[in-house]
Amino acid sequence: MNVHPWNRAVWAQLTRMRHPLPHALLLHGMAGIGKRELALAYAQWLLCERPGEQGGCGTCRACAWIRQGAHPDLHWVEPEETEEGAEETDKARRARPIIRIDQIRALIEALSLSAHQGGWRLALIRPAEAMNPAAANALLKTLEEPPPRVMLILISHQPRRLLPTVLSRCHKFALPRPDWDTALAWLRAQGVAAAEDTLREAGGAPLLALEYAQPERLERRGRLLTALAQPQRQDWCELAEAMKNAPGEVWDWISRWLSDLLALQQGLPSRYYPAHTAALQSLARRTDPARAWSLYRELIAARRHLAHPLNAQLLLESWFLRYASLEDSL
Ligand SMILES: [Zn+2]
Repeated sequence: MNVHPWNRAVWAQLTRMRHPLPHALLLHGMAGIGKRELALAYAQWLLCERPGEQGGCGTCRACAWIRQGAHPDLHWVEPEETEEGAEETDKARRARPIIRIDQIRALIEALSLSAHQGGWRLALIRPAEAMNPAAANALLKTLEEPPPRVMLILISHQPRRLLPTVLSRCHKFALPRPDWDTALAWLRAQGVAAAEDTLREAGGAPLLALEYAQPERLERRGRLLTALAQPQRQDWCELAEAMKNAPGEVWDWISRWLSDLLALQQGLPSRYYPAHTAALQSLARRTDPARAWSLYRELIAARRHLAHPLNAQLLLESWFLRYASLEDSL
């Protein structure tokens, strides 16, 4: 389990803590920077039979179990996929993944048994803000009076959504935004060709950028950006049909594209797609800023319905056709 280069300072802080270790940690920071990997590396280091400065040895029985995702004293708690049920009629609730009270009860039960290997018993809760209030309250008792040699590691990119009573009982580690050059070098070392582009699109989060760099996704993005650059030469209905399974991606791209276009109209540089500045400039000159703003605002308002659009294809079509009508709207 490797610690990412931009997280080494926090790693050093973690491994420098001496006994008695805190019973609850909170690792927080933006999404896509390796919080999960850091938490797992630390758990491995605690459970390893021969831990070194850099982490677990990688060869002992504990390390092998962790590699297989099967260490009996390491418990992951993450939102479970839920079937649509009677209590799940509210769309907004379905859109957000939830850690439920029965998952926390099962965890507490597991942690009350003695350790299989006589060492630490660890729970990794991710993302911690997914705990609903009942789940968070159920966890509080364990946070207040943890069994000996139990450590809870909470992972969160929205710590403000955690109950104050939970927050106050955790030893907090803030993972910084990765340094741009370090992140870029790492991304290139993973064999990502358009590293700078994808890292910018991911807001500087390298693991998110790595996800963004999947060839199929890059192909879809290229296709959409080409269409946005030449709005009059597209079959927008066909494009909406082709992209209807990924309305969130389309939303990301088209809203960033519009944001760049609006920036250029105000004499600012493009932020997301500098490689397309020429096409954006040309469009910016031929587009009425008020109408571009109006479409941009409409997109922002549509964001929260994206997880479960009634008809994604129709939604995309309506965005595309309005976008195409922007050109020569002066
Ligand atoms: Zn080991």
